[in-house]
Amino acid sequence: MKLLRGGRLVRSDGIEPADLLMEGETIKAIGKIDQPGAEVIDVSGKLIFPGFIDPHTHLEMSGGCDDFHTATKGAIMGGTTMVIDYATQSSGGLVEAFHLWQAMAQKSCCDYLFHMSPIRKDKQLAEEMFWLQERGISSYKLYLAYDDLRMNETDFVETLKALDVIGAFVGVHCEDGDRIKQLQQEALERGEIEPLSHALTRPPETESRAIDYLMNRAEGCINIVHLSSKDGLERVRYYKQQGKDIVAETCPQYLLLDRSLLDQSREEAVKFIFSPPLRTADHRDALWQGIADGVITTIATDHCNCSQASKINNYTDFSRVLNGIPGVETRVHLMLSEFDKRGLGYAKAVELLSTAVAKQYGLYPQKGELAVGSDADLVIYDPTVEWTIKQELMSTPGDYTPYEGWNITGKIAQVYLRGQLAVDNEKWLGSLGRFQTARRTHDNS
Ligand SMILES: [Zn+2]
Repeated sequence: MKLLRGGRLVRSDGIEPADLLMEGETIKAIGKIDQPGAEVIDVSGKLIFPGFIDPHTHLEMSGGCDDFHTATKGAIMGGTTMVIDYATQSSGGLVEAFHLWQAMAQKSCCDYLFHMSPIRKDKQLAEEMFWLQERGISSYKLYLAYDDLRMNETDFVETLKALDVIGAFVGVHCEDGDRIKQLQQEALERGEIEPLSHALTRPPETESRAIDYLMNRAEGCINIVHLSSKDGLERVRYYKQQGKDIVAETCPQYLLLDRSLLDQSREEAVKFIFSPPLRTADHRDALWQGIADGVITTIATDHCNCSQASKINNYTDFSRVLNGIPGVETRVHLMLSEFDKRGLGYAKAVELLSTAVAKQYGLYPQKGELAVGSDADLVIYDPTVEWTIKQELMSTPGDYTPYEGWNITGKIAQVYLRGQLAVDNEKWLGSLGRFQTARRTHDNS
């Protein structure tokens, strides 16, 4: 048994000074603890968070520069003890995609689960969804942009219905793909090829229009993933007020960066090409308001680790650049530091980065909580250390971080994965993740 003595536990509802006892993989006791024979670890002056969960990653993507092992090593170094990765269908069925992802994730350094992402409505889709549900899969993702990933309207509506039948949680990439294609074509005809046009041809209204399209057809629980704009946020707020079952996720890039980063030299600007794109600063401020008033419920990364080299090599125009940025390693530090600086507090950060995620995806209270019986996924954090993010400090492969030079207050000292010390002062000690099953029901969102 290991006894963490003298720390302060941070939960979504507040901060409590308490000792914490681990036995095996779980939390055994919390409070004022004297346990003869336990290994006592002094954590006075430190904060203890439940392990953070990143519910939106694309690890081991073709075109990306990491795999499940290297990406999740970065994740756990950065305080993320579980990821939920998008398992995307290709030429075979959804079950085949599930098996493929299971095989890739065998080498994961943190715990994991998948959202399934069907790109067609195959005849056997409903049957496959039941099969997947029995194996702990309860969340899905559908696209309204990207021709190779989105369905036609009939299939889209039928798939939404089928997902509602099994009570699945449905994340949707909301961008109006047709409008974007038209705007891209017009821009290219005018000879506009620079990175800034990536954002100009995907304006905020393409997000809000896609949300309207979706909500006019949706039946069940909907999650607007990577919400990026004020326009989109207002539509989510509106549908919530209408009593619709809708939540929203955003990402650090939309909270910290803005569109001016696309308006610099091509070589620099390509580092900030991802979709939805960066917006002007007023959108960023609106999203922070959406966090403060509870319209945005989770913060993920949309981690998709494309290198700068792969984005700039053979550049022809903005529409052909690989979309995606690394983020799984920096999310927790950036957000804890920023929530503290903005006076939102660490407890609120725990809610959006861990507790609410666990609840939405049927992992609570095993994950996302500091409670007796919960998994001992713990992040020990020194809130006083000042440091600066640099690519050379990153563990995930790649040639840049979008947050180069960002000053951070607070630093992770140790990370435990199910009771085992996985990271100690920036050193990874070895850890092996495990598939986690969701136990989501219609009414635990
Ligand atoms: Zn994504």
